Amino acid sequence: MGEMKPFGRTLPRKDLCSLDACTRCGECLKVCPVQEVARRREISPPEKIKRYREFIRNTEGLKAWVLGAHALDREALEDFVRAIFECTTCGACGQTCTVGIDTQRLWPGLRKEMVERGLGPIGALAGMPEIVARTGNPYDLPAGVRFTPWFPSHVAVAERAEVAYYAGCTGCYEAQPMVRGDVKVLSAIGEPFTMLPAGQEVCCGFPLFITGQHGMLKDLVRTLVDGYAAKGVHTLVCSCPCCVNMMGKDWPLYYGKVLPFRIRHITQYVADALRSGKLSIRKSLKERIIYHDPCYLSRGVGVIREPREVLRAIPGVTILEFDRNRENSRCCGAGGAARKVFHENAVAMGRLTINEALTKGADRLILSCPACHSKVHEAMAEYDRKIRITDIMELIGSLIEEP
Ligand code: SF4
Ligand code: SF4
Repeated sequence: MGEMKPFGRTLPRKDLCSLDACTRCGECLKVCPVQEVARRREISPPEKIKRYREFIRNTEGLKAWVLGAHALDREALEDFVRAIFECTTCGACGQTCTVGIDTQRLWPGLRKEMVERGLGPIGALAGMPEIVARTGNPYDLPAGVRFTPWFPSHVAVAERAEVAYYAGCTGCYEAQPMVRGDVKVLSAIGEPFTMLPAGQEVCCGFPLFITGQHGMLKDLVRTLVDGYAAKGVHTLVCSCPCCVNMMGKDWPLYYGKVLPFRIRHITQYVADALRSGKLSIRKSLKERIIYHDPCYLSRGVGVIREPREVLRAIPGVTILEFDRNRENSRCCGAGGAARKVFHENAVAMGRLTINEALTKGADRLILSCPACHSKVHEAMAEYDRKIRITDIMELIGSLIEEP
C-alpha cells in the first residue's frame, strides 16, 4: 500500500471527539436494522468506530508521531469501507447511543474521508457524479421526462410565486404516485405555487453528499437556490425527507449563507392548510392504516407530529403505530444509497416493515418518502405477504375534491 494521508483530516472536530466517546456499551446493536438482517460484526457501530480510531492512531496519533506511521492492513481497510457503505445511515444507533454520538452525521463524514483517499465509494455509486453532471439526476434518465409522465394536466404552475414545490429525482423517476399526490394536494389548497423547469430542477445533492462525493455540491445548490430566489420564493415545499434534510442542513453550508427562503416538508405545509381551513378532507376511509416514520424525516428533521395530524384529518380512519416509531423508527432498508449496492439487505429490511404492518392488522401501509416507496414495493414484489402501500399525499390526493 502506498503512502497514507493521515485519517481524520476532513472530519469536523465534533465527529473526531465522538470517536473517542464510544464506550462500546453495545446499546446501539439492539436497533441496527442492517445487523438484524446481515449479522456481520464489521457493520456494528462500535466496531466501525474502533477500526477508524485504530487507523487514526496508526497514521497520525502520538504513537505514529514517535514511532513513525504504520502501514495499514489493506484487508481491514477494505472491510471497513464495505461496512461504512453497507450502513443505511438511518441514525437509529445515534438515537439510542448512551453518549449521544450523532451517527447520522458521523457515517457520511467517514464515507467522505474514504472517498477523498480513493478508497470509496463502492460499486455503482462511483459513477454517480458523472451521471448527475450529464442528466441532472442520479438515475441516468433524461431531464425531458422528469415531470411529463406523472404531472396532472389540470394542475397549474405559476411562473412566479411565494411558494415553490421541489419534486426531487426519486419521486419523479421512481415514486410517481407520490409526487402526483403532492401536486394534486398543493393545487387543492389553492395557493399559487411555482416550480423550476425540468432542466433546472436538478438533484438536491443528497445522493452525492451521502456517498461522500462532494465535488459538485456547490454548483448544484447554487443552481437551485438562485433559481428559486429569482422566482420570488419565500417557502420551498418538498416531500422527500432526504431532500428536506439536505436543504435545511447542508444547502446553507454549500451556498455560503442563509437561504433566502424557508424549507417545509409537505406534511407541515398541508397540516397548516388543514388548520387554517384552506384544505379539508370530506371523503371517509374506513380502514386501519399504519404510518412508517422515514428515518430522515423523524430522526433527521423532527417531522413526526404533522404526518399524524394530516392522517387524523381523514374521516373514519383508524391509525395504528409500529412498535418502533417516531424518532425511534426502524429503517425500511432504503436509506443511505446502500440499497443500490446491498440490494438483498434492503429487501430483507423492507419485508420486516411489511411483516410488522400485517401483524398489527393494518389494511394499508402509509409511507412518506420516495425511497421507502420504491424499496418497500420492491421488497413486496416477490414476497408472498402482501399489503396495500400508499404514500401519504397519494392517499390525501385521492380523498379530496379539487376546486
Ligand atoms: S446508521 Fe442505522 S444502519 Fe447504520 S449502523 Fe447505525 S443503526 Fe445501523
Ligand atoms: S451506543 Fe454509543 S457508546 Fe454504546 S457502543 Fe454504540 S456508539 Fe458506542
